[in-house]
Order: sequence, then C-alpha cells, then structure tokens
Amino acid sequence: MKKIGVLTSGGDAPGMNAAIRAVVRKAIYHNVEVCGIVAGYTGLISGHFRKLELGSVGDIIHRGGTMLLSARCEEFKTKEGQHKGLQQLKNAGIEGLVVIGGDGSYRGAKALTELGFPCIGVPGTIDNDIGCTQFTIGFDTALNTVIDAIDKIRDTANSHERTFIIEVMGRNAGDIALWSGLAGGAETIIIPEDNDDIRHICARLKKGEERGKKHSIIVVAEGVSSGIELGKEIKQLANIDTRVSVLGHIQRGGSPTAFDRVLASRLGARAVELLLQGKGGRAVGMQNNQVSDHSLDEIFKGNHSIDLNLLTLSKELSI
Ligand code: ADP
Repeated sequence: MKKIGVLTSGGDAPGMNAAIRAVVRKAIYHNVEVCGIVAGYTGLISGHFRKLELGSVGDIIHRGGTMLLSARCEEFKTKEGQHKGLQQLKNAGIEGLVVIGGDGSYRGAKALTELGFPCIGVPGTIDNDIGCTQFTIGFDTALNTVIDAIDKIRDTANSHERTFIIEVMGRNAGDIALWSGLAGGAETIIIPEDNDDIRHICARLKKGEERGKKHSIIVVAEGVSSGIELGKEIKQLANIDTRVSVLGHIQRGGSPTAFDRVLASRLGARAVELLLQGKGGRAVGMQNNQVSDHSLDEIFKGNHSIDLNLLTLSKELSI
C-alpha cells in the first residue's frame, strides 16, 4: 500500500486531532503517503482532498475539534453516493481509508469495504456508545467537562439549598451521565439502561428532604428525558422545585485529556497497521487496556454494554 486516506465524520469529539496525527505519522513512518479528506463523506464525494505531511499534523495533539472538519452526509447513505466516493478514492490513487467517527460513520466504512475498498474504523465519539470497545475517543474529555460543571453547580446548589437537574449528552447511551454522576457525587443518576421509576426517584428525593437534605444533584442522560420535562414531573409528583442546567455542546469541545490523547494515538496507529496488513471492514478498540480489533459486523451486533455496577455503587454512596 502506497497511499491511504483519513477522514473524520459525524459528531466531533476531542481527541480526533490526536487520532489524525497518529494515522499520518504512523503511515509516513512506514513510507506511506496520507491524504486528508475534508468534511467526512461530503468531501469524499466531492473530492475535497489534501495531502497531509509530517508538519501538517504538528501542533494539533492538544486541540479539540477536528482539523479535517466533520459533517453529516445523507448522500453517502445511497449506493450512488458511495460509488461517487469510491471513484474519487480511485482517482486519487488511495488504496485504504481510516474512518474516525461513530456508529453511523462505521456504516459508511462498511459500505465502502463491501464495494471492495478496505476501510478501518477508529471510535471517535463522546458518547462511548460503540460495541467492542470499553472507551471511545472523546469520552474522557467530555466527562471531565461535565464534572467541572457539576462541581460549579454544586456550589450554587449548596448556597441556595436547591435541587439541580443537569442534563448531559450521550444519545441513547448513559455512559456520560453514569460516570460523571459517580465522579461528581450526584445523588441521582438517570440513564436509559436502568428502569428506575420516576415515582421511586421522587420517593428518594422526598426521603432525603425529610432527613434534612437541603440540596441535591440529579444527572439525567438526554436519552431518557429532557431536564425541563423531568423537572416538571418532579414538581408534579413530589412538589419539589428544581433548577435545570442543560450542558449542551460544551461537552463536545475543549483540549483532549491525557487519556484521550493516548487512546487516540494508540488506536490511530493500529488502524494504519491493519490497513498495511491488507485488512479492511474492521474497527479498532480498547479491551482491558489492550488495543483490539473486530469486524464491523461484530461491532454492530455487540452493543456497547454499560457497567451497571457503577450505578449500584453510586446508589450505595449517595444514600
Ligand atoms: P456518527 O458517526 O457520529 O454516529 P452519524 O450517525 O451522523 O454520526 O453518521 C455520520 C455519517 O456517516 C452520516 O452522515 C453518513 O454520511 C454516514 N452514514 C451513516 N449511516 C450510513 C449508512 N447506513 N450507510 C452509509 N453511510 C452512512
């Protein structure tokens, strides 16, 4: 293999730049040329490519976002769009592609692999919702952003003796809520993977109130409910007033943590190794602190499983 491509797609995540850097440097180390594809599958279809050299990825390891830009591209979901992209890759002499993104981006990688073009996925999403990997690039940074917010909100919750609801991202996964709730000492964590009844949650809040607990932090995953709706339900069922904070897109930005930079470096480099071994239709991940790789089909089948022991622990620690 003489030339490979790299793109970032879907929701951006801190650490994507560190992953691009790893792909570029590892490939050049093996005398392979790298072509950056701008704005995900949109740039693939339109042929928006730029050569990436060693210096092109200097000074990006600490930056959030993605220097290659990211996009969502409906056209690439069609066979026609995929064929256009494939033609652009062939025209540019590219022989393999690293796709840094989430589950949706992996489906694009699978489509291209099925057309005979080898692609390797690298998990880049703050949601931590990809199968066959314990961690995705960006999750740890997002967690730290949320914890910083929880700590600040705790100060005001404490001063005004208020119950706060903090709505966090994660799409259909509860990982951000669970880990940040545990790390931030939240009294209540509400995630899609748990079936805790709202009445039960209200009863716990009431019990806390009765024993003199004056303020409380509730972290809710966006996949369960909006913070506003939850606040209305709590008012209706328990007559407790809440303040709602929706953290939103600040969770996507910022300089990646050391954990995310190391993860991105390891996973990006392994993706290149797999391409050079002639493999495609796979994605890299992290299992028990070892880099692993699995077929995309296995990844789509094996939903990322959240560690519910952490939820039990959080309940035990917030009695
Ligand atoms: P993420 O990768 O973060 O999960 P999306 O689900 O938005 O983000 O997917 C990113 C892009 O991947 C989509 O805009 C589209 O271009 C491509 N994609 C998603 N699903 C498919 C599919 N079934 N076939 C081909 N490409 C897809």
